[in-house]
Amino acid sequence: MSTNNSSLNADSAIELLLRLLKVPGLSGQEQAISDTVRGELIAVGVPVESIQTDDAPTRIDLPCELGNLYVTLPGTTTGPRIVLSTHLDTVPICAGAQPIREGNRIRTNGTTGLGGDNRTGCAVLIATVATLLKHKLPHPPLTLLFTVREESGIQGARHLNPAALSGAEMCFNFDSKVPADLITGAVGQESFTVEIGGLASHAGVAPEKGISATLVASLALADLHAHSWFGKVQQPEGKGTSNIGVFGGKMGLAAGDATNVVTDYVLLKGESRSADEAFTTKITQAYRAAFERAVEQVTSADGQKATLKFTSHAAYPPFNLADDDPVVQRAILAAKSLGLEPTTNFSNGGLDANWLVKHGLPTVTMGAGQHEIHTVKEFIDLDQFIEGCQLALAIATLASND
Ligand SMILES: [Zn+2]
Repeated sequence: MSTNNSSLNADSAIELLLRLLKVPGLSGQEQAISDTVRGELIAVGVPVESIQTDDAPTRIDLPCELGNLYVTLPGTTTGPRIVLSTHLDTVPICAGAQPIREGNRIRTNGTTGLGGDNRTGCAVLIATVATLLKHKLPHPPLTLLFTVREESGIQGARHLNPAALSGAEMCFNFDSKVPADLITGAVGQESFTVEIGGLASHAGVAPEKGISATLVASLALADLHAHSWFGKVQQPEGKGTSNIGVFGGKMGLAAGDATNVVTDYVLLKGESRSADEAFTTKITQAYRAAFERAVEQVTSADGQKATLKFTSHAAYPPFNLADDDPVVQRAILAAKSLGLEPTTNFSNGGLDANWLVKHGLPTVTMGAGQHEIHTVKEFIDLDQFIEGCQLALAIATLASND
Protein backbone atom coordinates (compact mmCIF):
# COMPACT_ATOMS: atom_id res chain seq x y z
CA MET A 1 0.00 0.00 0.00
CA SER A 2 1.11 3.48 -0.71
CA THR A 3 2.22 5.74 2.07
CA ASN A 4 3.00 8.60 -0.29
CA ASN A 5 -0.16 10.61 0.13
CA SER A 6 1.23 12.89 2.79
CA SER A 7 3.63 14.07 0.05
CA LEU A 8 0.86 16.01 -1.65
CA ASN A 9 0.99 19.75 -1.03
CA ALA A 10 -2.71 20.57 -0.61
CA ASP A 11 -2.25 24.35 -0.58
CA SER A 12 -0.35 24.44 -3.83
CA ALA A 13 -2.87 22.03 -5.42
CA ILE A 14 -5.69 24.45 -4.50
CA GLU A 15 -3.72 27.45 -5.80
CA LEU A 16 -3.14 25.55 -9.03
CA LEU A 17 -6.86 24.80 -9.30
CA LEU A 18 -7.73 28.49 -8.82
CA ARG A 19 -5.28 29.46 -11.57
CA LEU A 20 -6.80 26.92 -13.98
CA LEU A 21 -10.38 28.02 -13.21
CA LYS A 22 -9.56 31.55 -14.34
CA VAL A 23 -8.49 30.44 -17.82
CA PRO A 24 -11.27 30.33 -20.44
CA GLY A 25 -11.63 27.16 -22.52
CA LEU A 26 -14.97 26.36 -24.08
CA SER A 27 -15.23 23.32 -26.34
CA GLY A 28 -13.17 23.87 -29.47
CA GLN A 29 -11.42 26.88 -27.92
CA GLU A 30 -8.92 25.06 -25.72
CA GLN A 31 -5.75 26.82 -26.88
CA ALA A 32 -5.42 29.05 -23.78
CA ILE A 33 -6.10 26.31 -21.24
CA SER A 34 -3.92 23.84 -23.13
CA ASP A 35 -1.06 26.37 -23.08
CA THR A 36 -1.63 26.99 -19.37
CA VAL A 37 -1.60 23.27 -18.57
CA ARG A 38 1.57 22.85 -20.63
CA GLY A 39 3.21 25.74 -18.75
CA GLU A 40 2.20 24.33 -15.37
CA LEU A 41 3.59 20.90 -16.33
CA ILE A 42 6.91 22.36 -17.43
CA ALA A 43 7.08 24.43 -14.24
CA VAL A 44 6.89 21.29 -12.09
CA GLY A 45 9.63 19.58 -14.05
CA VAL A 46 7.92 17.69 -16.84
CA PRO A 47 10.35 17.58 -19.80
CA VAL A 48 9.12 19.70 -22.72
CA GLU A 49 9.79 16.89 -25.18
CA SER A 50 7.40 14.55 -23.35
CA ILE A 51 4.44 16.86 -24.07
CA GLN A 52 2.56 16.58 -27.37
CA THR A 53 -0.73 17.51 -28.96
CA ASP A 54 -2.34 15.15 -31.46
CA ASP A 55 -4.07 15.52 -34.82
CA ALA A 56 -7.59 14.71 -33.59
CA PRO A 57 -8.95 17.99 -35.12
CA THR A 58 -8.34 16.55 -38.60
CA ARG A 59 -10.99 13.94 -37.75
CA ILE A 60 -13.40 16.15 -35.78
CA ASP A 61 -16.17 17.67 -37.85
CA LEU A 62 -16.27 20.86 -35.75
CA PRO A 63 -13.89 23.81 -35.36
CA CYS A 64 -10.97 23.00 -33.02
CA GLU A 65 -8.10 25.25 -31.98
CA LEU A 66 -5.92 22.24 -31.25
CA GLY A 67 -5.91 18.54 -30.40
CA ASN A 68 -5.66 16.42 -27.29
CA LEU A 69 -2.64 17.04 -25.04
CA TYR A 70 -0.49 14.08 -23.99
CA VAL A 71 2.36 13.68 -21.55
CA THR A 72 4.31 10.45 -21.93
CA LEU A 73 6.61 9.65 -19.03
CA PRO A 74 8.82 6.60 -18.52
CA GLY A 75 8.27 4.56 -15.37
CA THR A 76 10.65 4.40 -12.45
CA THR A 77 9.29 0.91 -11.75
CA THR A 78 8.19 -1.81 -14.11
CA GLY A 79 4.57 -2.65 -14.75
CA PRO A 80 1.97 -1.81 -17.34
CA ARG A 81 1.66 1.79 -18.50
CA ILE A 82 -1.22 3.61 -16.85
CA VAL A 83 -3.06 6.68 -18.07
CA LEU A 84 -4.51 9.48 -15.99
CA SER A 85 -7.05 11.39 -18.06
CA THR A 86 -9.33 14.40 -17.91
CA HIS A 87 -10.84 16.95 -20.30
CA LEU A 88 -9.69 20.50 -20.89
CA ASP A 89 -12.94 22.11 -22.01
CA THR A 90 -15.81 23.65 -20.08
CA VAL A 91 -19.44 24.31 -21.06
CA PRO A 92 -20.57 27.76 -22.36
CA ILE A 93 -22.17 28.81 -19.05
CA CYS A 94 -18.64 28.83 -17.56
CA ALA A 95 -17.38 31.64 -19.84
CA GLY A 96 -16.01 34.51 -17.77
CA ALA A 97 -15.99 32.53 -14.51
CA GLN A 98 -14.60 34.42 -11.49
CA PRO A 99 -13.85 31.74 -8.90
CA ILE A 100 -14.29 32.75 -5.27
CA ARG A 101 -12.73 30.75 -2.47
CA GLU A 102 -14.87 30.49 0.65
CA GLY A 103 -13.67 28.13 3.37
CA ASN A 104 -13.44 24.63 1.97
CA ARG A 105 -15.33 25.58 -1.19
CA ILE A 106 -14.75 27.43 -4.43
CA ARG A 107 -17.95 28.99 -5.77
CA THR A 108 -19.03 31.29 -8.60
CA ASN A 109 -20.17 34.91 -8.30
CA GLY A 110 -23.65 33.69 -9.23
CA THR A 111 -23.63 34.81 -12.86
CA THR A 112 -21.67 32.01 -14.55
CA GLY A 113 -20.74 28.39 -14.07
CA LEU A 114 -17.36 27.67 -12.50
CA GLY A 115 -15.64 25.15 -14.73
CA GLY A 116 -14.89 22.68 -11.96
CA ASP A 117 -16.01 20.28 -14.70
CA ASN A 118 -13.31 19.76 -15.56
CA ARG A 119 -10.56 21.97 -14.19
CA THR A 120 -10.64 19.83 -11.04
CA GLY A 121 -9.45 16.96 -13.24
CA CYS A 122 -6.73 19.09 -14.88
CA ALA A 123 -5.46 20.16 -11.45
CA VAL A 124 -5.50 16.57 -10.17
CA LEU A 125 -3.29 15.38 -13.03
CA ILE A 126 -0.80 18.25 -12.72
CA ALA A 127 -0.66 18.02 -8.90
CA THR A 128 -0.06 14.27 -9.16
CA VAL A 129 2.86 14.54 -11.56
CA ALA A 130 4.25 17.48 -9.56
CA THR A 131 4.26 15.32 -6.41
CA LEU A 132 5.72 12.29 -8.17
CA LEU A 133 8.60 14.36 -9.57
CA LYS A 134 9.26 16.49 -6.48
CA HIS A 135 9.49 13.52 -4.11
CA LYS A 136 10.88 11.09 -6.70
CA LEU A 137 8.09 8.63 -5.90
CA PRO A 138 8.21 5.27 -7.71
CA HIS A 139 5.61 4.90 -10.46
CA PRO A 140 5.03 2.74 -13.55
CA PRO A 141 5.18 4.21 -17.08
CA LEU A 142 2.64 7.02 -17.02
CA THR A 143 0.64 8.92 -19.62
CA LEU A 144 -1.37 12.03 -18.86
CA LEU A 145 -4.18 12.69 -21.33
CA PHE A 146 -6.03 16.02 -21.50
CA THR A 147 -8.81 15.76 -24.09
CA VAL A 148 -10.52 18.49 -26.08
CA ARG A 149 -14.22 18.83 -26.91
CA GLU A 150 -15.54 16.40 -24.29
CA GLU A 151 -18.52 18.63 -23.60
CA SER A 152 -19.53 18.83 -27.26
CA GLY A 153 -20.07 15.13 -27.93
CA ILE A 154 -16.93 13.49 -26.49
CA GLN A 155 -15.10 14.35 -29.71
CA GLY A 156 -11.49 14.49 -28.49
CA ALA A 157 -11.52 11.05 -26.90
CA ARG A 158 -13.45 9.63 -29.84
CA HIS A 159 -10.94 10.82 -32.40
CA LEU A 160 -7.65 10.32 -30.57
CA ASN A 161 -5.13 7.97 -32.09
CA PRO A 162 -4.96 4.88 -29.82
CA ALA A 163 -1.30 4.40 -30.82
CA ALA A 164 -0.49 7.62 -28.94
CA LEU A 165 -1.37 5.84 -25.71
CA SER A 166 1.89 3.87 -26.02
CA GLY A 167 0.37 0.51 -25.16
CA ALA A 168 -1.23 1.64 -21.91
CA GLU A 169 -3.31 -1.05 -20.24
CA MET A 170 -5.56 0.96 -17.98
CA CYS A 171 -6.85 4.48 -17.50
CA PHE A 172 -8.15 6.53 -14.58
CA ASN A 173 -10.33 9.43 -15.68
CA PHE A 174 -10.98 12.35 -13.30
CA ASP A 175 -14.34 13.86 -14.19
CA SER A 176 -16.94 13.47 -11.47
CA LYS A 177 -17.97 14.36 -7.92
CA VAL A 178 -16.98 11.98 -5.17
CA PRO A 179 -13.53 10.37 -5.47
CA ALA A 180 -14.45 6.91 -4.16
CA ASP A 181 -17.66 6.65 -6.24
CA LEU A 182 -16.04 4.81 -9.12
CA ILE A 183 -17.85 4.90 -12.46
CA THR A 184 -17.20 1.58 -14.16
CA GLY A 185 -19.91 1.65 -16.82
CA ALA A 186 -22.07 4.10 -18.73
CA VAL A 187 -24.89 4.17 -21.25
CA GLY A 188 -24.37 4.65 -24.96
CA GLN A 189 -26.19 7.27 -26.99
CA GLU A 190 -27.54 7.83 -30.49
CA SER A 191 -28.56 11.27 -31.71
CA PHE A 192 -31.15 11.92 -34.38
CA THR A 193 -32.57 14.80 -36.39
CA VAL A 194 -36.06 14.90 -37.86
CA GLU A 195 -37.14 17.35 -40.54
CA ILE A 196 -40.77 17.47 -41.59
CA GLY A 197 -41.74 19.41 -44.67
CA GLY A 198 -45.43 20.38 -44.67
CA LEU A 199 -47.38 22.70 -46.90
CA ALA A 200 -48.28 26.29 -46.06
CA SER A 201 -51.81 27.51 -46.57
CA HIS A 202 -54.04 30.21 -45.07
CA ALA A 203 -55.18 28.69 -41.81
CA GLY A 204 -58.47 30.62 -41.82
CA VAL A 205 -59.35 30.56 -45.52
CA ALA A 206 -58.12 27.13 -46.64
CA PRO A 207 -56.55 25.05 -43.87
CA GLU A 208 -57.51 21.86 -45.72
CA LYS A 209 -55.08 22.77 -48.51
CA GLY A 210 -52.15 22.78 -46.10
CA ILE A 211 -50.14 20.05 -44.36
CA SER A 212 -49.20 20.98 -40.83
CA ALA A 213 -45.69 19.85 -40.02
CA THR A 214 -46.39 20.69 -36.38
CA LEU A 215 -49.34 18.31 -36.38
CA VAL A 216 -47.32 15.50 -37.97
CA ALA A 217 -44.55 15.86 -35.37
CA SER A 218 -47.04 16.09 -32.51
CA LEU A 219 -48.87 12.95 -33.62
CA ALA A 220 -45.55 11.11 -33.72
CA LEU A 221 -44.61 12.23 -30.20
CA ALA A 222 -48.05 11.34 -28.84
CA ASP A 223 -47.69 7.89 -30.42
CA LEU A 224 -44.21 7.43 -28.88
CA HIS A 225 -45.52 8.55 -25.50
CA ALA A 226 -48.53 6.22 -25.68
CA HIS A 227 -46.27 3.26 -26.43
CA SER A 228 -43.66 4.06 -23.75
CA TRP A 229 -40.86 5.04 -26.11
CA PHE A 230 -40.60 8.65 -24.91
CA GLY A 231 -38.66 9.61 -21.77
CA LYS A 232 -38.01 6.59 -19.60
CA VAL A 233 -38.20 3.65 -21.98
CA GLN A 234 -39.23 0.29 -20.57
CA GLN A 235 -40.03 -2.31 -23.16
CA PRO A 236 -40.07 -6.12 -22.90
CA GLU A 237 -36.84 -6.25 -24.93
CA GLY A 238 -34.89 -3.59 -23.08
CA LYS A 239 -34.78 -0.29 -21.26
CA GLY A 240 -33.24 3.11 -21.77
CA THR A 241 -34.22 6.74 -22.18
CA SER A 242 -35.13 9.04 -25.04
CA ASN A 243 -35.88 12.70 -25.56
CA ILE A 244 -36.74 15.36 -28.08
CA GLY A 245 -34.76 18.34 -26.85
CA VAL A 246 -35.29 20.69 -29.78
CA PHE A 247 -38.64 21.31 -31.49
CA GLY A 248 -38.34 24.34 -33.74
CA GLY A 249 -38.16 25.72 -37.21
CA LYS A 250 -35.58 26.98 -39.69
CA MET A 251 -32.28 28.48 -38.55
CA GLY A 252 -32.98 28.21 -34.85
CA LEU A 253 -36.27 30.10 -35.11
CA ALA A 254 -39.66 28.96 -33.82
CA ALA A 255 -41.59 26.45 -35.90
CA GLY A 256 -44.00 28.43 -38.05
CA ASP A 257 -44.33 32.11 -38.80
CA ALA A 258 -47.82 33.19 -37.80
CA THR A 259 -51.04 31.79 -36.33
CA ASN A 260 -52.86 32.17 -39.65
CA VAL A 261 -50.43 30.02 -41.63
CA VAL A 262 -50.37 26.22 -41.62
CA THR A 263 -46.83 25.35 -40.43
CA ASP A 264 -44.81 24.12 -43.36
CA TYR A 265 -41.62 23.03 -41.62
CA VAL A 266 -40.41 21.70 -38.27
CA LEU A 267 -37.02 20.50 -37.10
CA LEU A 268 -36.64 18.18 -34.13
CA LYS A 269 -33.49 16.95 -32.46
CA GLY A 270 -33.49 14.01 -30.09
CA GLU A 271 -31.49 11.25 -28.53
CA SER A 272 -31.73 7.63 -27.35
CA ARG A 273 -29.69 6.09 -24.55
CA SER A 274 -29.28 2.59 -23.20
CA ALA A 275 -26.73 0.33 -21.58
CA ASP A 276 -27.44 -2.04 -24.48
CA GLU A 277 -26.08 -0.76 -27.80
CA ALA A 278 -28.61 -2.72 -29.88
CA PHE A 279 -31.50 -1.43 -27.80
CA THR A 280 -30.32 2.17 -28.24
CA THR A 281 -30.73 1.62 -31.97
CA LYS A 282 -34.13 0.06 -31.36
CA ILE A 283 -35.31 3.22 -29.58
CA THR A 284 -34.12 5.33 -32.51
CA GLN A 285 -35.95 2.99 -34.90
CA ALA A 286 -39.14 3.39 -32.86
CA TYR A 287 -38.86 7.15 -33.39
CA ARG A 288 -38.33 6.78 -37.11
CA ALA A 289 -41.34 4.43 -37.39
CA ALA A 290 -43.57 6.78 -35.37
CA PHE A 291 -42.73 9.72 -37.64
CA GLU A 292 -43.38 7.57 -40.73
CA ARG A 293 -46.81 6.60 -39.36
CA ALA A 294 -47.62 10.20 -38.49
CA VAL A 295 -46.83 11.33 -42.04
CA GLU A 296 -49.49 8.88 -43.30
CA GLN A 297 -52.11 10.35 -40.97
CA VAL A 298 -52.06 13.93 -42.26
CA THR A 299 -53.18 14.60 -45.82
CA SER A 300 -54.04 17.79 -47.68
CA ALA A 301 -57.33 18.13 -49.56
CA ASP A 302 -55.66 16.99 -52.77
CA GLY A 303 -54.00 13.97 -51.17
CA GLN A 304 -50.50 15.29 -50.57
CA LYS A 305 -48.48 14.21 -47.55
CA ALA A 306 -45.59 15.72 -45.62
CA THR A 307 -41.99 14.87 -46.44
CA LEU A 308 -39.84 13.28 -43.77
CA LYS A 309 -36.07 13.35 -43.40
CA PHE A 310 -34.83 11.29 -40.45
CA THR A 311 -31.09 11.01 -39.83
CA SER A 312 -29.35 9.37 -36.89
CA HIS A 313 -25.83 8.62 -35.76
CA ALA A 314 -24.12 6.87 -32.84
CA ALA A 315 -22.85 9.53 -30.42
CA TYR A 316 -20.91 7.14 -28.16
CA PRO A 317 -20.99 3.42 -27.29
CA PRO A 318 -21.93 2.03 -23.86
CA PHE A 319 -19.50 0.08 -21.68
CA ASN A 320 -19.56 -1.90 -18.47
CA LEU A 321 -16.41 -3.12 -16.68
CA ALA A 322 -16.55 -6.04 -14.24
CA ASP A 323 -15.60 -5.35 -10.63
CA ASP A 324 -12.70 -7.80 -10.96
CA ASP A 325 -11.25 -6.02 -14.00
CA PRO A 326 -7.64 -5.02 -13.17
CA VAL A 327 -8.37 -1.31 -13.69
CA VAL A 328 -11.30 -1.45 -11.27
CA GLN A 329 -9.23 -3.43 -8.79
CA ARG A 330 -6.40 -0.89 -8.89
CA ALA A 331 -8.84 1.97 -8.23
CA ILE A 332 -10.46 0.04 -5.37
CA LEU A 333 -7.10 -0.82 -3.78
CA ALA A 334 -5.92 2.79 -4.06
CA ALA A 335 -9.14 4.12 -2.51
CA LYS A 336 -8.93 1.62 0.35
CA SER A 337 -5.30 2.59 0.95
CA LEU A 338 -6.63 6.07 1.79
CA GLY A 339 -9.25 4.68 4.16
CA LEU A 340 -12.07 5.38 1.68
CA GLU A 341 -14.96 3.03 0.98
CA PRO A 342 -15.09 2.68 -2.81
CA THR A 343 -18.29 1.76 -4.66
CA THR A 344 -18.73 0.91 -8.34
CA ASN A 345 -21.43 2.75 -10.25
CA PHE A 346 -23.12 2.89 -13.66
CA SER A 347 -23.62 6.32 -15.26
CA ASN A 348 -26.57 7.45 -17.36
CA GLY A 349 -24.36 10.05 -19.04
CA GLY A 350 -21.52 9.66 -21.51
CA LEU A 351 -17.89 10.25 -20.57
CA ASP A 352 -14.49 10.19 -22.26
CA ALA A 353 -14.37 6.68 -20.78
CA ASN A 354 -17.01 5.49 -23.27
CA TRP A 355 -14.61 6.07 -26.17
CA LEU A 356 -11.43 5.15 -24.28
CA VAL A 357 -12.91 1.73 -23.50
CA LYS A 358 -13.96 1.41 -27.14
CA HIS A 359 -10.32 2.16 -28.10
CA GLY A 360 -9.27 -0.84 -25.98
CA LEU A 361 -8.28 1.07 -22.85
CA PRO A 362 -10.29 -0.03 -19.78
CA THR A 363 -11.14 3.18 -17.92
CA VAL A 364 -12.53 3.95 -14.47
CA THR A 365 -13.85 7.46 -13.85
CA MET A 366 -13.74 9.12 -10.47
CA GLY A 367 -14.38 12.52 -8.98
CA ALA A 368 -12.45 15.40 -7.50
CA GLY A 369 -15.17 17.52 -5.93
CA GLN A 370 -17.13 19.07 -8.84
CA HIS A 371 -20.77 19.83 -7.88
CA GLU A 372 -23.90 21.37 -9.47
CA ILE A 373 -22.01 21.37 -12.75
CA HIS A 374 -23.27 23.30 -15.80
CA THR A 375 -25.21 25.71 -13.53
CA VAL A 376 -24.53 29.09 -11.89
CA LYS A 377 -24.71 27.27 -8.54
CA GLU A 378 -21.63 25.24 -9.38
CA PHE A 379 -19.08 24.77 -6.59
CA ILE A 380 -16.02 22.70 -5.79
CA ASP A 381 -15.72 20.85 -2.51
CA LEU A 382 -12.02 21.31 -1.70
CA ASP A 383 -11.88 18.38 0.73
CA GLN A 384 -13.07 16.12 -2.07
CA PHE A 385 -10.72 17.83 -4.53
CA ILE A 386 -7.73 17.04 -2.30
CA GLU A 387 -9.07 13.52 -1.77
CA GLY A 388 -9.20 13.19 -5.58
CA CYS A 389 -5.56 14.32 -5.80
CA GLN A 390 -4.59 11.79 -3.13
CA LEU A 391 -6.49 9.05 -4.94
CA ALA A 392 -4.68 9.81 -8.22
CA LEU A 393 -1.37 9.75 -6.39
CA ALA A 394 -2.24 6.44 -4.71
CA ILE A 395 -3.24 4.97 -8.09
CA ALA A 396 0.00 6.15 -9.68
CA THR A 397 2.22 4.85 -6.90
CA LEU A 398 0.44 1.60 -6.01
CA ALA A 399 2.84 -1.29 -6.40
CA SER A 400 1.91 -3.34 -9.45
CA ASN A 401 0.38 -6.75 -8.82
CA ASP A 402 1.90 -8.12 -12.00
ZN1 LIG B 1 -16.82 16.68 -17.42
